[in-house]
Amino acid sequence: MDYCIEVNLNRVRERITAAAARSGRSADQIELVAVSKQQPAEAIAAAYAAGVRHFGENRSAELVEKAAHFAADDDIVWHFIGQLQRRQSQPVAAYADFFHAVDRLSIAQRLDRQLAEIGRTLPLFIEINISGEASKHGFDVSRWEDDGGQREAISAAAATIADFSRIEVCGLMTMAPWGAPQNEIRTVFQRTRRLAEWLRDAVPSADWDMLSMGMTNDFEIAIEEGATHVRVGRAIFAKQ
Ligand SMILES: *Cc1c(COP(=O)(O)O)cnc(C)c1O
Repeated sequence: MDYCIEVNLNRVRERITAAAARSGRSADQIELVAVSKQQPAEAIAAAYAAGVRHFGENRSAELVEKAAHFAADDDIVWHFIGQLQRRQSQPVAAYADFFHAVDRLSIAQRLDRQLAEIGRTLPLFIEINISGEASKHGFDVSRWEDDGGQREAISAAAATIADFSRIEVCGLMTMAPWGAPQNEIRTVFQRTRRLAEWLRDAVPSADWDMLSMGMTNDFEIAIEEGATHVRVGRAIFAKQ
């Protein structure tokens, strides 16, 4: 198992380096978030031994368990990447180092209050739905280039979130349509990057430098289109 994870990781890192080089970037501008959801502690320990420090979880109970298990490894950075229910936000406020999936104002407001109570701050990504698929979470920006109402809505939401004192907006997160042709996936990532560039002017009170996009199936395209954080699960943890 250990061997397998290390081999998988080396392959993923090589692919990240190659994709970065193709777009004139350096691999150290790209953070690999190893998505360890549903993986046992031994798998995380193996990835940690192979140099991984950024891990992604999508259930708050699992985050609590794993953060406790690895409490001694205080250089681990926990990314919460999943949809967050109201009643599960406290553990994210307490243990997550990044939150990738703010998809509504109310969850940001709740986190801000809980963060204030425990004296923490949390950098986060605003999740956007750029493909317009009904199954996707995130702010609807499916027609943002042509629809002033959508631009108004996303910039107003981002400005409100940026004003919360315990939260730091650091960029956008998106997911490409599952199984779509490569050119469609690329378009989703390009449109996300352009929206971040637009937001840089529209909402200067937030930082828009980070882009969380790309998973096992599409992380190379995401890197070519500007991703700073790729969230990769199966390519690292799947048994070969
Ligand atoms: C599970 C998950 C990933 C990782 O997906 P893989 O296909 O296993 O790489 C990335 N992002 C989110 C939001 C996820 O839920």
